[in-house]
Amino acid sequence: MNRVMGLAAALAVVIFSVGPTQAQTVEKLYIFNCGEGVAGDISRWSPGVNEGKSMDFVDTCYLIKHKQGWFLWDTGIPDAVAAMPNGLAPADPKAVTWKRPKTLAAQLDQLGVNASDIKGMAVSHTHPDHIGNVEMFPDTMLYVQKAEYEWPGANNAPRFKPEHPVTKLEGDRDVFGDGSVTILSTPGHTPGHQSLLVKLPKTGAVVLSGDAVHFKSNWDNRGVPVNNTSKEQTLASMERIADTLTKEKAQLWINHDKAQRDGLKMSPEFYD
Ligand SMILES: [Zn+2]
Repeated sequence: MNRVMGLAAALAVVIFSVGPTQAQTVEKLYIFNCGEGVAGDISRWSPGVNEGKSMDFVDTCYLIKHKQGWFLWDTGIPDAVAAMPNGLAPADPKAVTWKRPKTLAAQLDQLGVNASDIKGMAVSHTHPDHIGNVEMFPDTMLYVQKAEYEWPGANNAPRFKPEHPVTKLEGDRDVFGDGSVTILSTPGHTPGHQSLLVKLPKTGAVVLSGDAVHFKSNWDNRGVPVNNTSKEQTLASMERIADTLTKEKAQLWINHDKAQRDGLKMSPEFYD
């Protein structure tokens, strides 16, 4: 009898030491409102399609709760825009006039998360609607492609504060080393653009687009925005994302697509 129980105990150790599956190491994903705006002419993103047509845009940030800590993907329009009644007008009238109805700070507060609790962060790229609040997290490790980090800004200005902790990537990165959160190199919109593959325990796999694509019809017709730094890279990155969706049976959540986001649960609700 003792031998049988000993065997059962040994077996239990084997079974339980296998531990959680990869997906269970990500516990929750929250979607934040990181801006709302109106685009002057959406053919800017898909040349020849819907010329002169205006469209509502959203700007989205995502907060991931992993067993090892919190991870923020994109930081949105600067919180300071919340105080501008007419919003932030773009230099190009075809682009988006942004407003900030809810701050990122308020949405973190609502969850009881402090900026200093966030262990890691990444931005899809360095356009202003994605990096607006990076310095709200001065001690958080920033994961960015080397090609993006070193891409000269206006008047050769650096893209980030040189003192901000940074990990410069040259390709994909498995952030927590367990396959649950993976930065995918998807250049083309900018030299070091990246997207994020997240494997959730119940929801399954999701690819967060960044601006590899701007909205659903832009994705369906593989439209390449006029201001992208490389058309070839953009098209290759879209194919790469399409292959990832198939391989991982993943959904594609498009950062700026209002129609899609209106159908998703916003923080404090979450996906698990
Ligand atoms: Zn954007």
